[in-house]
Amino acid sequence: MKIGIYPGTFDPITHGHTDIITRSLRVFDKVMVAVAPNPTKHPLFNLAERLDMVQLVLKDIGQVEVVTFDGLLVDHVRRSGAHAIIRGLRAISDFEHEFQMALINRKLAKQVETVFLMPSEEYSYLSSTIIKDVANHGGSLTEFLHPEVARRLQARIRSVKP
Ligand code: ADP
Repeated sequence: MKIGIYPGTFDPITHGHTDIITRSLRVFDKVMVAVAPNPTKHPLFNLAERLDMVQLVLKDIGQVEVVTFDGLLVDHVRRSGAHAIIRGLRAISDFEHEFQMALINRKLAKQVETVFLMPSEEYSYLSSTIIKDVANHGGSLTEFLHPEVARRLQARIRSVKP
C-alpha cells in the first residue's frame, strides 16, 4: 500500500487543499493529512480547531487519515511509514520555497521523496492567507471554502476585530 503524507498548516483548509488531496488519491492508496502546529506562522485557528475543520471537510473522502505532528517532518515521515511527502504547487511563486524544502528534507533523510501536484486552475491562486484577507474585508467565501469552514472563519474574524 503506497502512502503519501500531505503536511501543512491548514489555517484554514481550502478547496485548494482538498483538490490536492483528491488528486493524491489517484497516485497513492492512502493519504495522511498532517496538520502542523506552526506557531511561528501565528495561525488564526489553534491546532485543535484546524484539525477539526480538516476532519470535517474530508470526512466523506475514503482512504484519508488526519494526523498532527511536531518536530521534523522527515522524522514523522519515517515513523509513519509513508512513502512520499505530497506538496501542492500553485503559481511559480511556490516553486523556490518548495524546491528548497524538498532538498533540505532529502539532505536530512535521503530516502524521503517529495511529490508535487498542481491544483485545478481555478484554485491555483488560492491560499489560506488570501482567503483570510478576503474574509477580513467581508468578501464571499463560498467558492473557496466548505460552508462550515467559511462560517467559522467569518465568526473568528468578527471576534478578533477591534
Ligand atoms: P504550509 O504552511 O506548509 O505552506 P499550507 O496549509 O499553506 O501549509 O499548505 C500546505 C500545502 O498545500 C503546500 O504544499 C501548499 O503549497 C499547498 N497548497 C495550499 N493551497 C493550495 C492551492 N490552492 N493549490 C495547490 N496547493 C495548495
